[in-house]
Amino acid sequence: MPKYIFVTGGVVSSVGKGIATAAIGRILKSRGLSVSIQKLDPYLNVDPGTMSPYQHGEVFVTDDGSETDLDLGHYERFLDANLTSASSVTSGQIYETVLGKERRGDYLGGTIQPIPHVTNEIKERIRAVGSETNADVVLVEVGGTVGDIEGQPFLEAIRQMRKEEGRNGTMSIHVTLLPYLGASGELKTKPTQHSVRELRSMGIQPDVIICRSDRPVADELKAKISLFCDVEREGVIPLLTMPSIYEVPLVLEEANLGDYVIEHLQLKAAKRDMDDWRQLVTALQHPAREVTVAVVGKYVELHDAYISVRESLIHAGVHHNTNVSIRWVQSERLEHGDVTPLKGVDGIVVPGGFGERGFEGKLQAAHVARTQRIPYLGLCLGLQVMVVEAARNLLHHEDANSSEFAPETSHPVISLLSEQEDVTQKGATMRLGAYPCELVPGTRAHAAYGVAEVNERHRHRYEFNNAYRDALAEVGIVPSGLSPDGQLVEICEVAGHPFMVATQFHPEFRSRPLRPHPLFRDFVGATIEGKAGEGDAKAVTADVSGAVASGSS
Ligand code: GLN
Repeated sequence: MPKYIFVTGGVVSSVGKGIATAAIGRILKSRGLSVSIQKLDPYLNVDPGTMSPYQHGEVFVTDDGSETDLDLGHYERFLDANLTSASSVTSGQIYETVLGKERRGDYLGGTIQPIPHVTNEIKERIRAVGSETNADVVLVEVGGTVGDIEGQPFLEAIRQMRKEEGRNGTMSIHVTLLPYLGASGELKTKPTQHSVRELRSMGIQPDVIICRSDRPVADELKAKISLFCDVEREGVIPLLTMPSIYEVPLVLEEANLGDYVIEHLQLKAAKRDMDDWRQLVTALQHPAREVTVAVVGKYVELHDAYISVRESLIHAGVHHNTNVSIRWVQSERLEHGDVTPLKGVDGIVVPGGFGERGFEGKLQAAHVARTQRIPYLGLCLGLQVMVVEAARNLLHHEDANSSEFAPETSHPVISLLSEQEDVTQKGATMRLGAYPCELVPGTRAHAAYGVAEVNERHRHRYEFNNAYRDALAEVGIVPSGLSPDGQLVEICEVAGHPFMVATQFHPEFRSRPLRPHPLFRDFVGATIEGKAGEGDAKAVTADVSGAVASGSS
């Protein structure tokens, strides 16, 4: 029987509840326990797939193709496990299911109410993770903040589960913030007290309070929180803001949270062993060198939109004992041929994206990378950018484009499968989730992976147009990964370039702190060689001028 740990948040949002949840998962995993994690999001969207990055940050994609909250990325990275759609639940999904059942007559004429119909559906989803994964512990994070109207059914479902699963079957962890008041020079506990009162008014007494703060929390303060919130002293755990999120499991374990949870839930666990994680943190803290990588995208002012890309670069950096400093470059700034924002970078990443804004700027970035021999990693749209740039400048198809941005182009080098004649698969829906990819021997991609076939996660509609495959290969844009039937170009690269590799999938969803993704690893490796003047990769020099054909759109 799995045990359940419910994590709620109080005081304000964005206190790092997702990271704390992921870190607790890591701690328990390090004790030899099997762990799964689920996120309950109270908003009414069915999934975040259609939400703007401004609203929601990155959309994380699981192997089974669900578009989920970015916290699932943290869970996967900290747990080093592949989660499924069961780990991401929204109010929208719950109501959709309940209303579907009502229309089908499943409720036999009953009156449908938040309690018990909605709460039963929530409990079923929570228990489904337990039975699907057979985990010893299921961590359930409730999105939002205690007191939000839309979060109430989730809290009520948790209250019921705490009763149903028995005294040692569940645990409640509340993550709050201790704000610092400059005027009086102290951390304040009152908002935490209020938040706990709110939680208790829903019938949930926390067993642990994780107090986020920017300053050290004195023992008297811990005692005060313990007294006022009725939580044992050992259950009050301060969590200071850390330079790296990967330090959080060590901090929580240092505070004996693992022992406390294991004792409370009466789990049989192994001795603590976080040596591998400690090595990771040490490597992060003491890099031997630094490289600068430009991430050229549309939402760069909002780093959450590219969170998995950023983390993948960090993981690859750790592997090479190198700090990868990211320069976020707004692609529109490169649009008119002025590429000074790229000056001095050792590598360029063009991440995924939808919509035309900034596309021409991304072409400039790819042009600079190709002609100046700067290491380049293209992710999804980043592949399409690389192909369009090559078609314009090497095949001299001046209006080459993706049919996403220029439906009338005479050279749709990237297009929907339904627009491509000799492809049998029809239907232009989004390709989502893991698909197999066979690597072409002798390519950089094959050398990086070191295996014949991989599975990688997709989230896109448009594809490399096979009508241009031969012509592009002749000018050095070679396919290095193909779908097993050979019909889809999944990876391509620039022959003879120090490292210019692009994928139609999103490798960033599969990188893990202790197991960097092979393509990110070799990309960062190439930037290091280029900076050291060892390989033939270079850094962008001051006098580069963009010369990419302007295209029709
Ligand atoms: N907009 C492109 C497509 O749909 C790329 C998508 C992406 O980068 N995720 O094919």
